[in-house]
Amino acid sequence: MAEDAMCEEARCPNISDCWGGSSKSAATATIMLMGDTCTRGCRFCSVKTSKAPPPLDPHEPEHTAEALSRWGLGYVVLTSVDRDDLADGGAHHFAETIRKIKQKAPTMLVEALTGDFAGDLEMVRAVAQSGLDVYAHNVETVEALTPQVRDRRATFRQSLKVLETAKAAKEGLITKTSIMLGLGETEAQVWDTLRDLRSVKVDVVTFGQYMRPTKRHMKVHSYITPAVFELWRQRALDMGFLYCASGPLVRSSYKAGEAFIENVLK
Ligand code: SF4
Ligand code: SF4
Repeated sequence: MAEDAMCEEARCPNISDCWGGSSKSAATATIMLMGDTCTRGCRFCSVKTSKAPPPLDPHEPEHTAEALSRWGLGYVVLTSVDRDDLADGGAHHFAETIRKIKQKAPTMLVEALTGDFAGDLEMVRAVAQSGLDVYAHNVETVEALTPQVRDRRATFRQSLKVLETAKAAKEGLITKTSIMLGLGETEAQVWDTLRDLRSVKVDVVTFGQYMRPTKRHMKVHSYITPAVFELWRQRALDMGFLYCASGPLVRSSYKAGEAFIENVLK
């Protein structure tokens, strides 16, 4: 049900921070599009998987936009499962939803957190040019750990291409990615990741702690202290990232509206 915020369904611990933001115009919610069943199986993720998820709801873009215009939030993050079963990976459904939101709630800021569309960069452009404000795609971890952490169809280099393509597709578009710490990455690998991200002009990075959803998922290698999260936040800013949220409970969408308003609009 796209018209329900994922924040509540996932019982996200950040609801009071995100929804209560500094003002209503900064309040952020996350909405999941295209169903709850993913065609991929990443080892850190507890989403249901299937090779053939149910078909898309053609009314979802319209209904999502209507619901959002009633809620009156300032910032929405649209995300989805990966839909490798669809010829376009769901890119046009994403784009249509963004266009409808901008028609019905023109002042709402929209972030799309997409998959890699199996490396089809035309699909990345279709979403990037649909009127959104922030294009997010998560590399999730450092390059060396990617094969152990993400579905085998996802590669670190492909994700960099997605971010690079989105940035080049529309002037002024902000690009964003997220990294989980605590999976066994080394400090040098995190530095390399930040350098790679800056080399393709990624604007925003977030760091959060990997939390094991169930015993069937990857073990946590280590728990990172708040001081180390703060260190990475400072390092990211020193490297030229526009802003960075970093902390044990931080998720890619954490207080995204507030951060955008404070760092991009001001
Ligand atoms: Fe979860 Fe995304 Fe991986 Fe699917 S592609 S299993 S939704 S992290
Ligand atoms: Fe919702 Fe994301 Fe904030 Fe959690 S971090 S409350 S999912 S917007």
